Amino acid sequence: MSVHKLTWLDGQEIPLAPGKVVCIGRNYVEHVHELNNAMPEAPLLFIKPNSALCDANKVVTLNPELGDHHFESELAILIGKPLNRNNIDCYQEAILGLGVAFDLTLRDLQSALKSKGLPWEKAKAYDNSCPLSSFIAYQGQALDDLEYELRLNNELRQYGHSQNMIFPIESLLKEIVTYFSLMPGDIVLTGTPKGVGKLKDGDRYTLLLGDKLLAEGMFSIE
Ligand code: ZN
Repeated sequence: MSVHKLTWLDGQEIPLAPGKVVCIGRNYVEHVHELNNAMPEAPLLFIKPNSALCDANKVVTLNPELGDHHFESELAILIGKPLNRNNIDCYQEAILGLGVAFDLTLRDLQSALKSKGLPWEKAKAYDNSCPLSSFIAYQGQALDDLEYELRLNNELRQYGHSQNMIFPIESLLKEIVTYFSLMPGDIVLTGTPKGVGKLKDGDRYTLLLGDKLLAEGMFSIE
């Protein structure tokens, strides 16, 4: 495995080594309902290591022996400057880019771990569980007015709008830095809207942020 390289939409490499991926669970009401989860009182956080990252603009190879892989598509925020509880008020200055990523999940294993009260890492942090798109530069776009789409085999499967988040991006970042400092190259995934489901070998997808096509690829599961 080689370390994933971060890229801009025009193909240029972003000169930052990817760090950790901080993920938010249960951040859209309709998704909380579709999985019969309780509404969160505070953002639910978990982390994928940088070894989980791969390029969403290539074929994403997944190991079928791990079980069924389920897709969740999520708005991704690339951090460009250190952000911690001392400078959180200037959080917008720390955002370098916006993208879309998959938070792939071994749902059956996750359910088994959840029911035993055990950590989720095996079900969430495995190799290639975080295919990542190219990024567009963050230039002060309104963070509560971002929309993205996952099209799977040419059909719209997930549509997310940041206005529908239970916890807006600002509060997610505040909650994150209460526990984990964010470093340049870290990525924040902001939760998935409704429409998650199981992947099959050969599924083709596109990920769009607004009208920008940020990734196009295929899953190989064999
Ligand atoms: Zn997720």
